[in-house]
Amino acid sequence: MLTTGPVPAYPEVLAALGKPVLYDYHPAFQAYYAGVVEKLRQALQTDNDPVIMQGEAILGIEAAAAALIGKDDVVLNLVSGVYGKGFAAWAARYGKEVVELAVPFDEIIDPQAVRDVLRSRPDIGVVALCHHDTPSGTVNPVGEIGAIVAAHGAYLIVDAVSSFAGMDVHPQNVHADIFITSPSKCLGSTPGLSLIAVGERAWAKIEANPDAPRGSFLSLIAWKDASEPGREFPVTPSIAEIYALDAALDRYAREGPANVWTRHAQTAMVAREGLLGLGLSLWPKQEAWCAPTATAFKVPDGISDVALRDRLLHDHGILVSLGRGETAGKILRIGHMGASAEPAFARTMISALSDILSKPIH
Ligand SMILES: *Cc1c(COP(=O)(O)O)cnc(C)c1O
Repeated sequence: MLTTGPVPAYPEVLAALGKPVLYDYHPAFQAYYAGVVEKLRQALQTDNDPVIMQGEAILGIEAAAAALIGKDDVVLNLVSGVYGKGFAAWAARYGKEVVELAVPFDEIIDPQAVRDVLRSRPDIGVVALCHHDTPSGTVNPVGEIGAIVAAHGAYLIVDAVSSFAGMDVHPQNVHADIFITSPSKCLGSTPGLSLIAVGERAWAKIEANPDAPRGSFLSLIAWKDASEPGREFPVTPSIAEIYALDAALDRYAREGPANVWTRHAQTAMVAREGLLGLGLSLWPKQEAWCAPTATAFKVPDGISDVALRDRLLHDHGILVSLGRGETAGKILRIGHMGASAEPAFARTMISALSDILSKPIH
């Protein structure tokens, strides 16, 4: 399964899913939960406790929009792919106006263009960016953009769902006020949770926002401090998924984050070199923009994306992802996330592709 998420869970994660399910008010579970939040805080390299919400990362992204964006806010939405584009709907629902800075989906956002928009619109108060827009396989320069947004004084929401834990990206060093990720991509755990780092400044804005959801499944506030002793959970957390996340965080720390990032980068490099060696083209216009966690390549002329995907699956047992939205029909995507980020898997994929492309495809 060389997919772009969910990915094959690590064996440690699968083993953790088999542990006895504890009552959520069991003191032992509450202490354990606090420990998992602390491990997550260390992985995210943040000063304050991150929030774990009970639903795949789109929940966290929508919850961030609902909490942070007030009805008087002008939002700059940076669009280089399907996920970035999708954020506009939430920004429009909660804010006053959405300004869009978009590039073709095989390009990345230019920090200078962000600076220009912010200069021309000093009233922009919130900026949203998808770091690695997975359906494009491109990585935006989030650090440079974050510094520009911070200098402007705006708040930054970063979707780092398919980049965190696969490369060196952390909320505080990219000036993200809210940073959302998932266990089911580069951490190699199961889908079902949103992992959200919220900075102090963002908490203050959220708590002052009368329209931020409270008493709602979409409420970030409800989960703030959920790991503190004596706090009740707003709803029953998925106990098994917390076990799985814990195992994935332990594994990440044990392998060493820098080693994990290198493994992802090397796998993507093998995939890119192999594809180019077969005479195929990468989807991103420049190789430097390609993600270390997924490789998008163009389907050769005269072959359908679905036919090629099916041949890989049926003849070689390898499953890759199709494009999505604007990239659907044009590309295939090879995931290098968590356990699938192994150069040997990329080599296997390339030899399978070489075999398939050497024969006619029907
Ligand atoms: C996977 C992913 C998400 C989360 O999508 P889900 O459908 O909730 O898993 C969000 N943003 C990006 C960039 C992703 O790759």
